[in-house]
Amino acid sequence: MSFSQRVKEETAKIIPEARHCALAELAAVFTTSGFFYPEEGRTMIGIRTENVLVAKASFSLIKKLFGTSSRVSVKDRNQIHRGHLYTITLADAAGAGKMIRALKLEDAVKRMDMSVTSADRNLLQSECCRKAFLRGVFLSAGSLSDPEKIYHLELVAENAEFAREICDVMATFGLNAKTVERKGRSVVYLKEGNQIVDFLGLIQANVSLLNFENTRVMKDVRNNVNRSVNCETANLGKTVTAGLKELRDIEKIDRLFGLEALPGPLREAAYARLQYPDVSLKELGERFDPPVGKSGVNHRMRRIHEIAEEEKL
Ligand SMILES: [Zn+2]
Repeated sequence: MSFSQRVKEETAKIIPEARHCALAELAAVFTTSGFFYPEEGRTMIGIRTENVLVAKASFSLIKKLFGTSSRVSVKDRNQIHRGHLYTITLADAAGAGKMIRALKLEDAVKRMDMSVTSADRNLLQSECCRKAFLRGVFLSAGSLSDPEKIYHLELVAENAEFAREICDVMATFGLNAKTVERKGRSVVYLKEGNQIVDFLGLIQANVSLLNFENTRVMKDVRNNVNRSVNCETANLGKTVTAGLKELRDIEKIDRLFGLEALPGPLREAAYARLQYPDVSLKELGERFDPPVGKSGVNHRMRRIHEIAEEEKL
């Protein structure tokens, strides 16, 4: 099961105790997946989704909020789109009326506006309700990549207005989400590990939060190990490169007048470098007799370099 699906499994089971929170969550699901339809002259309301978890959660929320039972129908999708399509509709017009009023959709119904582009802000006044709203959005429109690979949480809004609402709600919790347009939809996303952890906490996905954190810690440990290995490799690389330049100088002098022509201390340094081509200056100095400090060796190498430079090939 994908990481995303596990978060949904976990959060779909949460049915808020408070009515206001349950409404906010249902409003989020409805804005993503809801629809109106006429039946015997009345406006009916429903939710249509491919995700069985969204279907289950909607069913439970509706039952809790309106006491009326709802009908769930399952259809196979076509050959191109595999899987099922779940449709949840209220059993009767009275239930539908209650839901329309509770979600403050009367205006949309009057306007015959079939596209509800955001949840009513009055439903999102309390902090508890805003958390429930985000859970509903994630459940019906969200996905979270495997943290092993990348930190990326996204919520796909059908329109820019809903995306703005989601961003606004997230901002009240200090999350600064970004939005990008993709195939005519507005995708709200978080890319920072810390912010994703906060988001999982807000929607009460506590098990997923721990799993996410564990992966993050393991990744950090691995990165740190890699980083220190890289550092060592880089330092080693530097030593080797410096050593190579010195060797080139020494060979040039040897070719031109022989190393014996060098003054004693420089000759000693040249022979030492030939013998130990890939050690640092400090280590090279330790091999002198008597040992010489790093700056002493450095000075001798600089002199050797100057001599080599003076002599044009
Ligand atoms: Zn609430």
